[in-house]
Amino acid sequence: MKEIVILGAGYAGLRALHVLQKSGADIHITLIDRNSYHYESTSLHEVAAGTQKDEKICYDIKDVVDTKKTTFIQGNVEKIDSDKKEVYVDQKTLSYDYLIVALGFQSESFGIPGVKENSLEMVDVKTADQVHRHIIEQMKQYKETKNEEYLRIVVCGAGFTGIELVGALVEGSKAFADIAGVKPEDIQIYCVEAVDKILPMFSDRLGQYCLKYLDKWDVKLLTGKPIKKVEPGAVVYQNSKDNENDLVALNAKTIIWTTGVSGSHVIGDSGFEERRGRVMVKPNLTDPKHDDVYLLGDVSAVMDPSSNRPYPTTAQIALKMGSYAGKDILNQMKGKPSEPFSFKSLGSVASIGNTHAFGVVGKTEVTAYPASFIKKAIMDRSLFETGGIKEVMSKGRFDLYH
Ligand code: NAD
Repeated sequence: MKEIVILGAGYAGLRALHVLQKSGADIHITLIDRNSYHYESTSLHEVAAGTQKDEKICYDIKDVVDTKKTTFIQGNVEKIDSDKKEVYVDQKTLSYDYLIVALGFQSESFGIPGVKENSLEMVDVKTADQVHRHIIEQMKQYKETKNEEYLRIVVCGAGFTGIELVGALVEGSKAFADIAGVKPEDIQIYCVEAVDKILPMFSDRLGQYCLKYLDKWDVKLLTGKPIKKVEPGAVVYQNSKDNENDLVALNAKTIIWTTGVSGSHVIGDSGFEERRGRVMVKPNLTDPKHDDVYLLGDVSAVMDPSSNRPYPTTAQIALKMGSYAGKDILNQMKGKPSEPFSFKSLGSVASIGNTHAFGVVGKTEVTAYPASFIKKAIMDRSLFETGGIKEVMSKGRFDLYH
């Protein structure tokens, strides 16, 4: 019997688990995750803004574990020794025949001073929840002090995550305002972005659609302003392109860092050849030096032949990688050659709050209500692919008519 170890119960890990468990092959699987629950990382911004409860985006890993085939261990993966075929988890050693590494992402500070100490990250349920609790506390402080900095929230970076977070914060501002004893429009939401154009993956038309709403909601979007450091209670950005000394401090009691992510530090700690925690994998998603180690999702870099750049890391590609790796291991066990992994994006949709969204589905651009409807359908589908119908029925998004 072959031993397959899966590290991480995110989109890729659980999708691979699903394929392997239903295969009927002579295998035992060990699934390891630091949490006892799976969470939908694409919805963290809603928890941070308080527009969604954390339990709504999580489900128990045990719900999807078939105990006849799989052992689930809750623990912290420290290191992988891919030459010895061993994984170290909380000082215990596990051996494998095949390993699936799907350990997800962490926040990337790019070495900018003060980021770790003076800003909040939003990388898992705990940190998203901390962001929300922090904002609530600042609203209470405003009520006591009347210092406007407590009403000011700065989102650093206007990428996919930053923009979705801004949209959710706008939606959450009514609740924040009630606590602070002010009007929702008194909550000041800033977004500071290094480059001039936001969301370059979308067309100008979609970019304009997003900007129109940010403007309507009075979000202060500062583009072309690279952040140079974060001080206690202030984001310091470069104000003019050609003058490095022209620095401006934007004071705020809530600073949230969303300028990009890297793959789990376990990848670097384990000696894989990597860049920002991502390994340039072979066409069958294995490590170039180890045929029995699959790297999926945020720890994996797969070239997109159409752009000659790695595919962006999304839940959609992570799910596809999970399915693929599960099937490829079964093929390897039968001595069958691997078909190369291929990926055709179904498109991507960004939400700005619960009722507005924009994006591309297939080749069609969508905005407004249809986009918001599709976004929820996409979320329900990914929930189905890892958790099955049971999780969709209890955690799915069915507020489709608004
Ligand atoms: P990102 O890299 O997409 O965006 C980060 C933004 O921060 C960029 O616009 C960048 O210019 C800006 N930035 C970087 N350094 C800065 C600085 N010093 N000062 C100011 N701005 C700075 O990162 P993300 O938004 O965290 O997303 C990570 C990945 O996850 C991406 O591949 C994204 O497409 C994906 N994602 C997908 C979805 C989805 O499909 N629904 C949702 C969220 C994220």
